[in-house]
Amino acid sequence: MSIQNIVQLQKDFFKSQKTKDISFRKKVLKSLLKEIIAREKDIINAIHNDFKKSEYETVMTEISIVLSELKLTIKNIHKWSKPKRVLPSLLNFPSSAKIYSEPFGNTLIISPWNYPFQLAFAPLIGAVAAGNTVLLKPSELTPNTSNITSEIVHKIFQQDHVSVIEGGVSVSQELLNIRWDYIFFTGSVSVGKIVAKAAAEYLTPTTLELGGKSPCIIDETASLKLAARRIVWGKFINCGQTCIAPDYLLIHTSAKAEFIKLFKKELQKAYGEAPKSSEDYARIINSKNFERLSDMIKGETIAVGGKTSKEDRYISPTIVDEPLLTSKVMQEEIFGPLLPIISYTSEQEIGNVISSFDKPLAFYIFSNRKNFIRKMISEYSFGGGTINDTTVHFANHRLPFGGVGESGIGSYHGKRSFDTFTHKKGIVSRGTWLDIPTRYAPYKGKLKQLKTLMKLG
Ligand code: NAD
Repeated sequence: MSIQNIVQLQKDFFKSQKTKDISFRKKVLKSLLKEIIAREKDIINAIHNDFKKSEYETVMTEISIVLSELKLTIKNIHKWSKPKRVLPSLLNFPSSAKIYSEPFGNTLIISPWNYPFQLAFAPLIGAVAAGNTVLLKPSELTPNTSNITSEIVHKIFQQDHVSVIEGGVSVSQELLNIRWDYIFFTGSVSVGKIVAKAAAEYLTPTTLELGGKSPCIIDETASLKLAARRIVWGKFINCGQTCIAPDYLLIHTSAKAEFIKLFKKELQKAYGEAPKSSEDYARIINSKNFERLSDMIKGETIAVGGKTSKEDRYISPTIVDEPLLTSKVMQEEIFGPLLPIISYTSEQEIGNVISSFDKPLAFYIFSNRKNFIRKMISEYSFGGGTINDTTVHFANHRLPFGGVGESGIGSYHGKRSFDTFTHKKGIVSRGTWLDIPTRYAPYKGKLKQLKTLMKLG
């Protein structure tokens, strides 16, 4: 069936009001939950076939996140969808006021390859829970995962409710030419701008979950052993291909040598002498990215790692020692297992580096000084972050997940996903038993009364 035909079917389905039924939404989400549990092994195999991601990482960072989003949503969907009563304004006396949650309508979700299962299903759950139809375009770079995503979706949902269209850039562009009621995009900043331009044509609201260079500061008071272990984990999970992975380290000069020593130890503990043979270490997604990353380390001083193997797109966990801000590795988001380390002696130097990039998606501070931590949080604008660890803010559904500035627009996770895909409709219901005459013309002599009312209201 052509894209146009599916879109028309979804428009008709939305118009039929079927998705307004909360019990219907809950029922399909429950079926989705069961199906994902039943297909766990297939999902693990698909992602492994795409880029050798380990079973453990797939369960932790893809399946379990989707399952907990589903469980939370199923449990709360009735509560979240109920009209919410708010205090009425005295100016409207007598009245009551409520916020109604209304689905936008036909939504488009475009997802990336790096967490190919989670980043497709997490927004989809929010969109369905909120009562929208969904057309999902997963990434062409993870064909096995896109395939199983399509199988699961088409087994659980009617095509006119939720559908998957597989394909690459041309399909994506065709989809972006259509008028949608909401677009949710996860991917690079450059494609995010293409999406924003397409959305502007119809003033379509969007969420843009993008990337950037996320700094990780380690000051002279940090617990270095723990920092090393937690950075090794957050940087090399998914082989560094994580939007919120620490992109580069800013470390106090006095801590640098000790940190590198501990980092090497932690690396060895995690992936052994030869990470290439470790079952837990994934691969670079494709040759293009392999070349891009290999190019970044050419001519740089390598403090740790630096080994590459083209045949299986392997790049070892690597620390790039003191690259210039003008070097390739510091000019763009790395999105791979390379970690530049830059030392500083003053806060001014931290500022010089961070301020030379756009607002990052994530921010990490390793320190035992409360004042320093507070200062960094208030001084720099970024999507979200973690103190004394990396990436784990992602896992708390009570926190908004999203960027700011070039790292994105909007946020989701937990109830926020439901709200993201919901138009909030404010309704005042006026009483008819009393009609205070103050606001009606003629106004002569009523100004004082109005001002008193304004103060109270
Ligand atoms: P990408 O922008 O290349 O692709 C994302 C999606 O857009 C894919 O489905 C792709 O088919 C489509 N696409 C690519 N080029 C397009 C074009 N010219 N026109 C229309 N559609 C197009 O991103 P990627 O390589 O899949 O993912 C890596 C990027 O995503 C990184 O920058 C990373 O930081 C970011 N990311 C962000 C988050 C987040 O939650 N903020 C999560 C994961 C990845």
